[in-house]
Amino acid sequence: MRRKKIYEGKAKVLFEGPEPGTLVQYFKDDATAFNNQKQGLIAGKGVLNNRISEFLMQKLEEIGIPTHFVRRLNMREQLIREVEIIPLEIIVRNVAAGSISKRLGIEEGTILPRAIVEYCLKDDALGDPMVTEEHITAFGWASPQDLDEMLQLTLRINDFLNGLFLGIGLKLVDFKLEFGRLWEDDQMRIVLADEISPDSCRLWDVATNEKMDKDRFRRDLGKVEEAYQEVARRLGVLPEAGPVDMKPPKVMQ
Ligand code: UDP
Repeated sequence: MRRKKIYEGKAKVLFEGPEPGTLVQYFKDDATAFNNQKQGLIAGKGVLNNRISEFLMQKLEEIGIPTHFVRRLNMREQLIREVEIIPLEIIVRNVAAGSISKRLGIEEGTILPRAIVEYCLKDDALGDPMVTEEHITAFGWASPQDLDEMLQLTLRINDFLNGLFLGIGLKLVDFKLEFGRLWEDDQMRIVLADEISPDSCRLWDVATNEKMDKDRFRRDLGKVEEAYQEVARRLGVLPEAGPVDMKPPKVMQ
């Protein structure tokens, strides 16, 4: 079946869904870092992120967080509700790492006094610059109400995921969320969109502080595939068929 491609991003492709208001989200093995300057493949990543994100979105739905997720369709695809993506990356930090360490000179691994939320504008050409609530509301990327709703959801998600990951021996250092607007009978709701996976989270082993996320790719630490697999294994969602099933299909539409 040939489906219409709606959008192709760095790690995912969106296709037209089987019914109006739905899309199919296809997870690729492609990995990029440093605003596209570093590109590569992480074998099987798409399969694992599909499962990991499915699992986390389902858990979040169970505690009442609305998400775009409908159901997983196959190894690399999930059915999602079509939303209007709010052009912001909402970053939550529990422990200093990455850009905050560099920008503010805080040693990586320093526990932050409280969860810190940052907003970045989703704009590759500009390198996703950090913006404030002032920019967001003045330029109309989100209304003060939208922003408040996203912040409340984000803090609930952080609390929940912190506990969930701690339970499997992982520290949730930081992560990035994206939200979208969903219209139902003239009513607008803000729902969690995109994905939650080791591509968008920093996860450190509680006992060893070993990095179990995309930093292994960004920083050439090796054992990248293994780290994604280990996260999936600990969450109990590692595909049983294993690596054989994780190869990308020969022909991609
Ligand atoms: N992140 C992301 N996409 C982005 C930027 C950041 O998923 O375009 C995630 C990243 O994986 C990390 C968190 O957001 O878990 C904070 O990233 P940071 O600002 O430290 O930027 P980085 O060091 O990734 O450039």
